Amino acid sequence: NLSDKLDKAFHILKGHGQITEVNVAETLKEVRRALVDADVNYKIAKDFTKTVKDKAIGQDVLSSLKPGELMVKLVKDELTSLMGGDAKGINLSGNPSVILMSGLQGSGKTTFSGKLANFLKNKKTKKPLLVACDVYRPAAIDQLHVVGEQIGVEVYSNRETKDPVKISQDAIAHAKENGFNVVIIDTAGRLAVDEAMMTEISNIHKAIQPQETLFVVDSMTGQDAVNTAKAFNDILNFDGVILTKLDGDTRGGAAISIKSVVDKPIKFIGTGEKMEAIDVFYPERMADRILGMGDVVSLVERAQEQYDEEEARKLQKKIAKNQFGFDDFLNQIQQVKKMGNMKDLIGMIPGAGKMMKDIDIDDDAFKHIEAIIHSMTPEERAKPSIINASRKKRIGKGSGTSVTQVNQLLKQFNQMSKMMKMMQGGGGKKMMQMMKG
Ligand code: GDP
Ligand code: MG
Repeated sequence: NLSDKLDKAFHILKGHGQITEVNVAETLKEVRRALVDADVNYKIAKDFTKTVKDKAIGQDVLSSLKPGELMVKLVKDELTSLMGGDAKGINLSGNPSVILMSGLQGSGKTTFSGKLANFLKNKKTKKPLLVACDVYRPAAIDQLHVVGEQIGVEVYSNRETKDPVKISQDAIAHAKENGFNVVIIDTAGRLAVDEAMMTEISNIHKAIQPQETLFVVDSMTGQDAVNTAKAFNDILNFDGVILTKLDGDTRGGAAISIKSVVDKPIKFIGTGEKMEAIDVFYPERMADRILGMGDVVSLVERAQEQYDEEEARKLQKKIAKNQFGFDDFLNQIQQVKKMGNMKDLIGMIPGAGKMMKDIDIDDDAFKHIEAIIHSMTPEERAKPSIINASRKKRIGKGSGTSVTQVNQLLKQFNQMSKMMKMMQGGGGKKMMQMMKG
C-alpha cells in the first residue's frame, strides 16, 4: 500500500547509507508513484516532485546534516502548501450569512448541509436555518427534514413551487424575520455535469448572492472530481471545497488535484454518514495522511525545532575554516540534551551519531564531558591541539576525572572534527551537485 511504498522510499534516504543521485531520484520517483496511486493527477505529481527537487538543491545547510530528513520535510511542506497552507474558515459575516451548496447528486450536499448546521449550532452564537431547494425529488425534501429533526435545526421548504430561486429568496426573508443568522441552502444535483443543472445553480447564485458558495465533492471519485470541480468553478467561482466520504482509508489525493486546478481552499471534510462526522480541513494533516508518514514527520519536526537553522549555518562555517572547538562541542551537547531522548536523537548531531553510538549515552556521560570542557581555558577550547601532558593533568584534576578520560574525550573530539569536515566538504555539496545534473 501507499504507506509502505513511501516508507520504502524514505528508508533509502533516512538510512545511514550514502545519498547518491540514484537514490534521490529513486525516492522522488516513489513519491510520485505514491501520489498518483492516491489519485493525484499525473502532471501535478510530476510538477510536484520537480519542485521538491529544485528546493532540495536550493538548501545546502541542513542538507549536509541529514539529507534524508530534509527531503521528508520538503515533501511534506510542499504537499501542505499545495493543498492550501493554513486551514481556511467560512465567511459568516452576513446577517444572515447565506451559504449555498453545489455539487453532483450523491456527492453529499444534503448530508453536509446538516453537518454544517449542526457544527454551527454547537457554536452557540449561530442559529442556522436549512433550506430545501432540491425540488425535483420529494424524497430529497423529506431527507433534509429528517436531518433537521435529528440535529434540532429548522428546515424551510415549500412543496407548492418548483422554483428554487423563489424558495431560497423566501427562506432568506423568513430567516430575517425569525432571527436566523445563517441560511444553508441545499440544492439539487445531477449524476453528471449538464446545462440544466448549471443554469439552475447559477440562477440561484445570482439571485441570492451568497457569502459562501461551497462545492461539495465525493473524494472517492478520484480524477473525475477534478473535472467536475472545474465545471462548477467556471460557472460559480465558488469560495471553497467540501471533500466528503473521506472516511477510513479513502485516499484523498483528489484534494491535491482539485486545489491545483481550481485554486480554491478546501474548507471541510466529511468523514462518515453521521452528523458529527465533519472536520475542518487542515492541509498539514492531509499531507500526513497522504504520505502516511506521521511518525517520521514528527521526528523531523522535533529535530528541526531544536536544531536552529542559524546555528547550523554558523557551525558549517566554523568547520569549513577549521575553527570547530570545544565550545561548539559543548553547544552541540546542550542542543542534544534539549531534545529529550538521547539515544534516539544523538544521531542528529553532525558527525556525533557514529562516534557516540558505541558509548553508553546517558546524562552521566555528558556530565563528565561537560566537566572536562569546563576545566579547559578558553584558549584550549578554541585550539585543542595545544593541550599537552601537563595541561591534561590540570584539566583532569579540575574536572574530577582522570587523564585517561581527558585523553578519551580529546580522541573522540578529533575523530569527530575530522568526520564533520569530511561530511561538510564532501558529501553534502556533492549530493546537491549530482541532483542538479
Ligand atoms: P446529495 O445528493 O449531494 O445531497 O448527497 P447526500 O447527502 O444525499 O449523500 C449521498 C450518500 O452519501 C448518502 O448515503 C450519505 O449518507 C452518504 N454520505 C454523505 N457524506 C458522507 C461521508 O462523509 N461519508 C460517508 N461514508 N458517507 C457519506
Ligand atoms: Mg441531496
